[in-house]
Order: sequence, then structure tokens, then C-alpha cells
Amino acid sequence: MQFQTIIEPFRIKTVEPIRFTTLEQRAAALAAAHLNLFLLKAEDVIIDLLTDSGTGAMSAAQWAGMMSGDESYAGARSFFRFESAVRDVTGYRHIIPTHQGRAAERILFTSACKAGDIVPNNTHFDTTRANLEAVGATALDLRCAEATQPSLVAPFKGNIDLVALERCLTEHKGRVPFAMITITNNSGGGQPVSLANIHAASALCKAHGVPLILDACRFAENAWFIKQREAGQGSRTPAAIAREAFDCADGCTMSAKKDGLVNIGGFLALNNDALAAKCRNNLILTEGFPTYGGLAGYDLEALAVGIKEVLDEDYLRYRIASVAYLGDKLTAAGVPIVQPPGGHAIYIDAKAMLPHIPPHEFPAWALSLALYLEGGVRSVEIGSVMFGRQPDGTEKPAAMELVRLAFPRRVYTQSHVDYLAEVILHVHGLRHRLRGVQLTEAPEQLRHFTAKFAPIGGRLLVD
Ligand SMILES: *Cc1c(COP(=O)(O)O)cnc(C)c1O
Repeated sequence: MQFQTIIEPFRIKTVEPIRFTTLEQRAAALAAAHLNLFLLKAEDVIIDLLTDSGTGAMSAAQWAGMMSGDESYAGARSFFRFESAVRDVTGYRHIIPTHQGRAAERILFTSACKAGDIVPNNTHFDTTRANLEAVGATALDLRCAEATQPSLVAPFKGNIDLVALERCLTEHKGRVPFAMITITNNSGGGQPVSLANIHAASALCKAHGVPLILDACRFAENAWFIKQREAGQGSRTPAAIAREAFDCADGCTMSAKKDGLVNIGGFLALNNDALAAKCRNNLILTEGFPTYGGLAGYDLEALAVGIKEVLDEDYLRYRIASVAYLGDKLTAAGVPIVQPPGGHAIYIDAKAMLPHIPPHEFPAWALSLALYLEGGVRSVEIGSVMFGRQPDGTEKPAAMELVRLAFPRRVYTQSHVDYLAEVILHVHGLRHRLRGVQLTEAPEQLRHFTAKFAPIGGRLLVD
């Protein structure tokens, strides 16, 4: 008998209480946070889907590993365990720990890029773009054609546009220090990139003598999608598929707070000896010593275990199924979401849901506020607040206005997801009453983290 219900492939050993709040309490909390969900106190949130980054639950094996952490400053045993686990998964020669993904980005970009350079990617994540722009380089997004149509169902909407990549490599010869591919494509809806696309991009880069670097934050989820969707891949293990993807590139940046299944950690992995040496020296400026990279020995132990656990098929099946479960419920009720559901998150298409709110009044931001106000759900805007401000200070609407509901790993159960669906459907019912917001204060870079807002017309929901 093959049963249909996909269950959480774990039992719960430790629990953390959720504090419930009333609508009045949430309205007060939202006002105190200047209508910015990043500025809320986390304990005022009922279901926290702000990010899947560093918010996962660790396994008993990871906690046990932490007890054997070696805290020696240099050459700790924990470093060699970490190095060997990461090398086993990625195959890269140089494994350089960092405290999280953006540190790996900063170290690579300040070591390998200069002002005037151009770095293509399927879609740059916000920290990736900001770190490139900080060294004066241009971050070029080359998403494939399917990616711009949120409602279109296609298997690999995370793919990089190969024609545009070739044009970029030809037109900007000498100015492209490396190309990148983000797996899965976080800012493009958590959509996967096919092995065929990675191979083709790799071949183009090789032909132009340009290295390829993977932004590998969700490499295991990407491998699972390839196993499910790409011809000829169904019988392979996620580990073998992931390794083939890594083999196509010359290195990777990684936030282990995602598919490393840890609360903090990351790494930069490279094959090039000279570049790795330069990056290690650069690391010492801000992260510490190259055998701990801003992490405790016990963090390296947790990462060494997590990066293997994440490739477990039962885990990946459950992980992808729980996100799809919410996606199916929303789709059945007519809520517009990016199709098909991504690996780590559901993205509500606020442009389609709230056509009466123009981009400069930030529809996705307004929707994320309403989800918190009505149901205590915290999500994140991926739209014109996050991406609207151009490097020259002008405003340009983002390609999409999305609200991302990111699932922490191994944290919430099916009843949490049922509650979520209920809250979202309720807000969908109120959508005609929702109004936009305006910025009252904003920093120049990564403004979504700290900007302050006011509702247009004084209220978020009109009668
Ligand atoms: C999270 C993330 C990063 C940055 O990693 P941090 O650990 O948050 O610094 C880079 N790229 C992608 C695709 C991400 O999802």
C-alpha cells in the first residue's frame, strides 16, 4: 500500500511556545514599527515567514555535534570536519568559512571585481547586488523569458537567459570578472534552474574564459526539483545531481543559513589557488582567521552535519510538499501566486491582487502589512521597496511586486500551514479596502530593512 499523505519526517523533541496577540495589539505593534515588519519584535509575530534564513530547527545530530566543537583559534578539528563535509558535497578545492552568505560575497567581490565591471546572474539577491554595487560593479539580471510571467507554469523558471548571457560576455569582453547563477532563484520566486541550463551557461563562460560562480544557498532544493522535473534525472540522488551542478562551476558563495540547516554560517568555495589566497587574506580583515571565518567551532560542526542532512530524500520530499500544499490551497481559492510554488516560499503576486495600488505606493508592502495586522503573519516584500531605488538615486518600479512567505526548515507543521491559508484568504477577501503606503524615511542602501512608512490617506484599510 502506497499511502498519499506526506508526513513530517521527524518527531519533535523540543518545543518553543508561540505568543498569541489580538488585532489591537498588532495594530499598536505595527505603528510602533513605523509600518516596517523588520522593525517588529519577533514575539509579536504568530507565524514568522519573514525568511527561511537561519530560522530552521537543528537536528539531534547537529546539537550533538556542537558539543564536540573544537574552539581552538587556528587549525581546530571542527574546521577540518566542516571542510571535508563541504568538499564532499561541492568538490571544490578551497573551502573558506564565513559568518554568513554576504560575507562570502563581500570577500569574493572585493577580491575579484573592480569599478566598471559587470556581473551577470539569473537574478541577483539583494545583498549580492548591494555588495557588487558597493565595489562599483554593475549587477546584471538576465532572467529567462518565462520568469517574467508570474502565472505561467513552467518547470525551470529560474533559468538564466542564455542568449542574453552570451551577448553580455561578447559585448563586455574584459569587463566580466565572473558570471553567477543563483540556485534556486530566490528573488525570482524560488524557482529552480535546470542542469541543462547550468551546463549551457558553463559552456558559454568557458568559451569566453570567464569563471562561473554559483550562489548555492538552496542547492539541495534545486537538486530535488531537477530530480522531479528534468528528463533522465528521476533515479539519481539529490547529492549526485547537486555535485554535477557544482562541477559545472568554478566555485560558489553559500549562505548555510538556508540549505546548510544552521542558524548561522556560510562559506566561499573556489578552485582557483591565487584567488583563494587573496580571499583568505581579505577574510582576515573582518571575519577572523581562515579556519573559523567568524564562526565558533560548534557552528562549523553543526554545518558539517547539516549540509549532509539537507540532501536526505525524505526531508526534501516533505520540504517541497509543505510549500506546495499552501500553494495549492491558495491557487484553488483564486489567490494570484507565482506559479508553480517555489522551493522555500510562496510568492503572492500583489500586482495582480491589488491592481488599484500603483507601484510607487508599494502594493506588496501594503499587502504584507495587512497579513500581519489581520493574522499575525510576518512575510517580506520583494518589490519596489526592495528594488525600486536605482544606484543613481532615481526610482524605477521593480519587475514584480511580490510578497514572499518563506518557510523556516523543520519548524512549522501542517496545522500552521492551514492557519496561514485561512489568514491569506481572509485578507484576499478584504483586498478592495487595502490602500498603499509612502516612505517617510529611508537609507540609501538596502532600505527595506530600516525604512519608515505612513499609510496613504492615513489608514491601511478603508471602510
Ligand atoms: C540569503 C541569501 C544570500 C545572503 O546570505 P546571508 O546569509 O543572508 O548573508 C545570498 N544569496 C541568496 C540567493 C540568498 O538567498
